Amino acid sequence: MSRPSPISATVDFDRDGVQHGFLRLPYSRDDSAWGSVMIPICVVKNGSGPTALLTGGNHGDEYEGPLALYELARTLDPKAVAGSVIIVPAMNYPAFRAGTRTSPIDKGNMNRSFPGRPDGTVTEKIADYFQRELLPRADIVFDFHSGGRTLDFVPFCAAHILPDKKQEARAFAAVEAFSAPFSMKMLEIDAVGMYDSAAEEMGKVFVTTELGGGGTSRAETVRIARRGILNVLRHEGMVDGAVEKLPTRWLDMPSGDCFCFAEEDGMIETMVDLGEPIEAGAVVARIHSTGRTGQAPQEIRARISGLLTARHFPGLVKAGDCVSVVAVVER
Ligand code: CA
Repeated sequence: MSRPSPISATVDFDRDGVQHGFLRLPYSRDDSAWGSVMIPICVVKNGSGPTALLTGGNHGDEYEGPLALYELARTLDPKAVAGSVIIVPAMNYPAFRAGTRTSPIDKGNMNRSFPGRPDGTVTEKIADYFQRELLPRADIVFDFHSGGRTLDFVPFCAAHILPDKKQEARAFAAVEAFSAPFSMKMLEIDAVGMYDSAAEEMGKVFVTTELGGGGTSRAETVRIARRGILNVLRHEGMVDGAVEKLPTRWLDMPSGDCFCFAEEDGMIETMVDLGEPIEAGAVVARIHSTGRTGQAPQEIRARISGLLTARHFPGLVKAGDCVSVVAVVER
């Protein structure tokens, strides 16, 4: 027998109606001896039917997901729902409260912490609760991301190429329904420990986004998030109303050649803007050393032709930072 999760939910997942509550995780510390981390959760349920598990704040410095999901929790009418919608707008709540990618408590990156541990760090305990309690309840899993403080993306909804083609087709159909300006066949740099992989390995339909970045949100990207999540729930037959279908351009990340990384520190100059075309071999960014004048910048060249889909965000880069992502336009 594995150890039970220390997290207790103040909501009843089997009760009809709207419940606003918490996932309470005991966390004893200097300023609160018998204290807890209180992760907000909302359950909207109407009868039997599929379960959707919706999350934002997997990384704490990304805002389109939380902005869409706190609003959905406030406004979703259970009479319009068939099944259960479980909403956790700020999954790594300590990171979200701090406005940082990782948790200030244990430096845990939620999306590298799966399957988690019931006897691990705070971040690992949250991951374990999702792994063993929430994911098994879900049919469709939607996890919002954006670029956070150090990346910026063209707004896209995404799913992964999977060995199970039926599971993959259901995920890409949901991506299409989301109706972001771009839809992505997504490749991960390092899929170990990701929530995505945990959900997919359980056979769930898993859909994600990258909707902007820079540690903030924009009016356009928040509109995309709010419309998109309702579209997905409507597409799945879980919320009344028609999908508000908008044109989307499909992008593909065919190999690791889509990524470019800085090899030295400096000041970055991106040579094309997000969404603009770039040819293989063209300079996508220059990194200027700033310690003295008279130094030639380091040129970083795109390794494939496509659209600039992501770029490093703040003006200074370090060796190893992801400078750019170029994706291929499919159709
Ligand atoms: Ca992210």
